[in-house]
Amino acid sequence: MVTVLNTLNRPRHPEKQNRPETEVLRKPEWIRVKAPGGAGWSETAGIVRANGLHTVCEEAGCPNIGECWEKKHATFMIMGDTCTRACAFCNVRTGMPKALDQDEPQKVGEAVAKLGLSHVVITSVDRDDLSDGGAEHFARVIASIRSLSPGTTIEILTPDFLRKPGAIEVVVKARPDVFNHNMETVPGRYLKVRPGARYFHSLRLLQQVKELDPSIFTKSGIMVGLGEERNEVLQLMDDLRSAEVDFMTIGQYLQPTRKHHRVEKFVTPDEFKAYETVAYAKGFLMVSSSPLTRSSHHAGDDFAKLRSAREAKLGRN
Ligand code: SF4
Repeated sequence: MVTVLNTLNRPRHPEKQNRPETEVLRKPEWIRVKAPGGAGWSETAGIVRANGLHTVCEEAGCPNIGECWEKKHATFMIMGDTCTRACAFCNVRTGMPKALDQDEPQKVGEAVAKLGLSHVVITSVDRDDLSDGGAEHFARVIASIRSLSPGTTIEILTPDFLRKPGAIEVVVKARPDVFNHNMETVPGRYLKVRPGARYFHSLRLLQQVKELDPSIFTKSGIMVGLGEERNEVLQLMDDLRSAEVDFMTIGQYLQPTRKHHRVEKFVTPDEFKAYETVAYAKGFLMVSSSPLTRSSHHAGDDFAKLRSAREAKLGRN
């Protein structure tokens, strides 16, 4: 269980301090992960620390960190370690963030080059305090990676840029290969799970990316086990297809602390498989649906498959 106090004894999630503690359900046997600590893991950790960077792998307490970092797959979290939203599922620190580090685009570019990544995923905290939500910073990070690692494909996982007109256009113009924005859950759970966000705004963001540049792959993910009904998940799939989203990810929600949203259910591997089958039938180019699926898990391999699936659809292979 992750502590809710940081080293300065300031709460990591001040908005959750007065919430009642919820019972943490025992994980089923199908949720088993590799422990971190091998040589690859140490090398990845060394490069992350040496460049003064944050990763969502650590900040969100991702269960796949042992496996991913061993292969030098880290997902960089830009624009600081403090988020201006307060989602009920997320372990990233909340509060008022510091000013942007103007050297961060260069540092991320250098770290990606040192890790020798063929595909990189960049995400960020939500920065409602910035007039453009951090769109320009995202664009600068993309440009830096392009310049230092021209062969690396770039996937971004962005916040929703709610009430930041023009922000999406700035990020799309920087031409990431994959634009991911997670819906996180079904619309009926938004007020409880993602209170600062708006379902239709998030959906519209994904649609706008396709309208602005149809060559960019779009991707979105949800967590299950938050109290959603199966029919609501199927409707969400239809909504994503209406927005022409290419790739959908579905993973099990895991509760970071007793103050976070409780796990309402551990969805079985067979149920995940059934979601995958339905999602493919609805027309997604790629679907990843399993208990340990996360947006950036196996993102490089999945990107290669995504590209082949598009080529096959266009009749080019
Ligand atoms: S799944 Fe993503 S967030 Fe989790 S450890 Fe792997 S790269 Fe990091």
